[in-house]
Amino acid sequence: MNNLLDQVKQISEQPIEQCYHCHKCTAGCPVVSAMRYGPDRLLRMLALEQEEPLLSSRDIWLCAGCYSCAARCPNDIDLAAVMDALRQIAMAQGYPAGEPDALLFHRLFLRVLSVFGRSHEAAMLGLFKVLSHVPLMNDVGAGIGLFLRGKVPIIPKRSGAAADVRQIMQRSK
Ligand code: SF4
Ligand code: SF4
Repeated sequence: MNNLLDQVKQISEQPIEQCYHCHKCTAGCPVVSAMRYGPDRLLRMLALEQEEPLLSSRDIWLCAGCYSCAARCPNDIDLAAVMDALRQIAMAQGYPAGEPDALLFHRLFLRVLSVFGRSHEAAMLGLFKVLSHVPLMNDVGAGIGLFLRGKVPIIPKRSGAAADVRQIMQRSK
């Protein structure tokens, strides 16, 4: 089997070896304060084949896929794609998610998408509140405010293309 670096390069299609650790990605990452290593150091660990700490790290699950790092990188390295690849490999190798609530969130999003053919924030967040470790009443005030302003419809509407979306999801498995 290829080493971890080769696997990540193959899945992410990113020129990881061009990273010269300028730190620009980490400086612009909005969730770096919650991470243990940060994006730049994760790439260093990848180059050093530090597989266990890398694949069990909560950092790869905290990445929000915002692409700030990709926009800032002088070598056009899309770290969100690298994080995606690391999560895929971690799961395939049986590593427990370093941040279980992030995995739950991913799964709920896909579940809601497969049922309604589109995202429905109220359904997703309601399920997340019940099933995650996040205290039930956290952010309830913000949620009520969004509902009162009509930003979050309570009743989900099924997309006319729900069956097509389900088929795409099946094929991607
Ligand atoms: S911005 Fe790009 S080159 Fe700089 S450390 Fe991050 S990934 Fe490496
Ligand atoms: S895509 Fe992930 S690693 Fe990159 S800046 Fe956003 S949260 Fe940070």
